[in-house]
Amino acid sequence: MSNPTDFPTPSSLHDLTFSALERELLASGVRPVHARALWRALYREMATHFKERADFPPPLRRWVEEATGEGGRFPLDAPEAVADLKSSDGQTRKFLLRLRDGQTVETVIMGYPGRSTACVSTQAGCAMGCTFCATGQAGFARHLRPGEIVAQVLHCQRALKAEGQAGLRNLVLMGMGEPLHNYDAVMTALEIATERGGLNIAPSHVSVSTVGVIPGILRMARENRPYPLALSLHAATDAERMALIPASRRWPLNELIAACRTYGAATGRRIFVGWTLIAGTNDGPAQAEQLAELLAGIDAHINLIPLNPTEGYEGETTSDEAAQRFKAILQAAGFPCTLRQRRGIDVAAGCGQLRGR
Ligand code: SAH
Ligand code: SF4
Repeated sequence: MSNPTDFPTPSSLHDLTFSALERELLASGVRPVHARALWRALYREMATHFKERADFPPPLRRWVEEATGEGGRFPLDAPEAVADLKSSDGQTRKFLLRLRDGQTVETVIMGYPGRSTACVSTQAGCAMGCTFCATGQAGFARHLRPGEIVAQVLHCQRALKAEGQAGLRNLVLMGMGEPLHNYDAVMTALEIATERGGLNIAPSHVSVSTVGVIPGILRMARENRPYPLALSLHAATDAERMALIPASRRWPLNELIAACRTYGAATGRRIFVGWTLIAGTNDGPAQAEQLAELLAGIDAHINLIPLNPTEGYEGETTSDEAAQRFKAILQAAGFPCTLRQRRGIDVAAGCGQLRGR
């Protein structure tokens, strides 16, 4: 029986989990024990080609040359950076990466040396249509394969290494796309990125950010996935939520909150709630009260993010005053609450904004 985390139609070496790689080798008559050497080359050394690997045993060398060479079954995912921008404060570096078919996705490194976070995309575009989000405004192109997600992590790791910095510590799925709308590829990619002999990102340092795809949340709970969940809520009534997130008409708030309770009970983990603050739309004190009421009894940490204005949306970012008041109400209700800084705004840090340009 195959591992349920394996991607059904791999077309890159980076699409394969470690156990899938072992099985591919076995099926080709190569001893699966060689998988470890190849894995180390892929995820520790971060090799970009497999020509003339004198250090590999000959059967492995032949297999990997053929698999990754011209017309091979598993060419490597090595997207090219068509843009590479650093924010003026030096805290954010953003790449626009071009995939094999010409689609482009955004990948960001955030944070200070030694504590870096990679923020990666899970789809080219997004089908959820959030009005305030540049990716949502541009629409959906296609899902990414696991290898295309993993390759973004590798790109960040290589960039840090080239700068002489420590490797990645955290991984957040907050780039373009809705991770739980591309569930299988995302879970395979996370298994690869957290494999201890490879990229070795701790599962508890991964954050799966979702706009609230209920079946995906329940599936994560059922399958006992070890990754923290971040729920982008933005509104505490169905009508207000539908105005910001058109796709949410399929996922009413009462069912969504019930799914969060199920997730919390099954995993014992706290949920991170994201709330993008938009002036006059969802940053009022009454809305903070409603949010506190909605989340009553849920172990939640609330992250408030001032809106990053986008061209396709008229809303404006919250004021400092409104944001502080909103935060104070939630804290008084007993919720840990963080007000995020708007960071790297000079490199169009909001998801989808760079590609839009
Ligand atoms: N689709 C997933 C993950 C990608 S979006 C989700 O929506 O959660 C990652 C985060 O960026 C979400 O919390 C989203 O609300 C936020 N975001 C998108 N556009 C934004 C903008 N213009 N300003 C501030 N936050 C934004
Ligand atoms: Fe998609 Fe997330 Fe943007 Fe909404 S906020 S359109 S779900 S990427």
